[in-house]
Amino acid sequence: MDLTQSEYDSIMREYEERRLYNAEVIRKRRLELEETLPAYFEIDKKISSASMDYFKSQLTSNKMDKEEYHKSIQRFTKEKESILEKAGYPTDYLEPIYDCKDCKDTGYIEGEKCHCLKQAAIKKLYPHTNLSNKYQNVSFKHFSLDYYDRNDNDAKTNLSSFDYAKNALDYCQDFVKNFNSTGGNILLYGNTGLGKTYLSTCIGLELLEQGYSVLYLTATQLLDVFEKKMKDRGTSARQDFMLLSEVDLLIIDDLGTEFQNSFNIPNVLDCINNRILSEKSTVISTNLNLRDLQTCYTERFISRIVENYKLLRLTGKDIRIQKNL
Ligand SMILES: [Zn+2]
Repeated sequence: MDLTQSEYDSIMREYEERRLYNAEVIRKRRLELEETLPAYFEIDKKISSASMDYFKSQLTSNKMDKEEYHKSIQRFTKEKESILEKAGYPTDYLEPIYDCKDCKDTGYIEGEKCHCLKQAAIKKLYPHTNLSNKYQNVSFKHFSLDYYDRNDNDAKTNLSSFDYAKNALDYCQDFVKNFNSTGGNILLYGNTGLGKTYLSTCIGLELLEQGYSVLYLTATQLLDVFEKKMKDRGTSARQDFMLLSEVDLLIIDDLGTEFQNSFNIPNVLDCINNRILSEKSTVISTNLNLRDLQTCYTERFISRIVENYKLLRLTGKDIRIQKNL
C-alpha cells in the first residue's frame, strides 16, 4: 500500500526524464526556427529590451506607465503568434510542453500530490489492476439494457429488472458527470452476472479519462493489501503514500465473504470510514444482499454504507448465460 523509497525515487526519475525530454523538444524547435524565422526572435529581443527599459524606469523619477508597458508586450506577443501562424506553426509551438498541465510534470500542486503522481504510484504498486490496460471497449454506451426483463416486476417495489438497470445506469452516468462537484459513494448489489463490475469499471475508466486517480481492487486484492501490510510492517524505508485513503476514487469489486474469517474486517471498516470522513469517493460492488453484508461485516459497517452510499440494485438473469444461449 505504501511506496518504498526506491519506488518513489524511480517515479520521480520518470518525472525528471519527462521534463528533460519535453525541454529538449522545445530546444530543438527553437533551433529550427532560429534558422527559418529570425523575425520571431527579433521580437523576442524587442520584448527583452522593453522590459529592461520599464524596470529601469521604475528606479527613476521618470517612471513608464505600467498599462502602456503591458499593452506593448501584448502587441509583441500577438506579432509573434501571427509570425508562427503564417509560417504554418501552431501559436504555442515554442511554449513549454507538459504531459500533465496541472502540476507541470512535477507531481505536486502546492505541496499536494497531483492526480498523475497518485496514478503513477498505483501503476507501480498494483501493475495488474491497471484499468486502462484491462478493458478496451468498456463504456456506458456499450452497456445494453436489452438483457434486462421489462416484465418481471418485483412484488414489493413493482420495479422490473429493466427499471433497476436503467436507474443504475443513469445514476452512474450522472455520478461521473458531476463527480467534481458532488462526489459521493455507490454500492452496486445483486446476483452474479448482472453488470455490476461492468458499471463500476465504466465509472473508473471515465474518471481516469477526466484526470482523477482511480484504484480498482477486487475484494481479494484488497485483502492481500491488508495482509501484506501486516507482514511488511517496518521492513523498509517507505514513502507516506496511503493510496487507499488518497485516491480520488477507490473501486472495491466483488466484495463477498472473503473477509468473514480474517482479522481484517476492522481494516475494511477503517478504509471505508476514512474515505467517508475525507470525502473521497468509493464504489463497491457485491453479490451479497444487505442482510448478508450485515452478517459478514457487522452492523456498523452496513449502517455506514446505508447512510453514505447510494444503493443501486440489479436484478434479473445472468447476462453471461443469456449471451451463450
Ligand atoms: Zn500532474
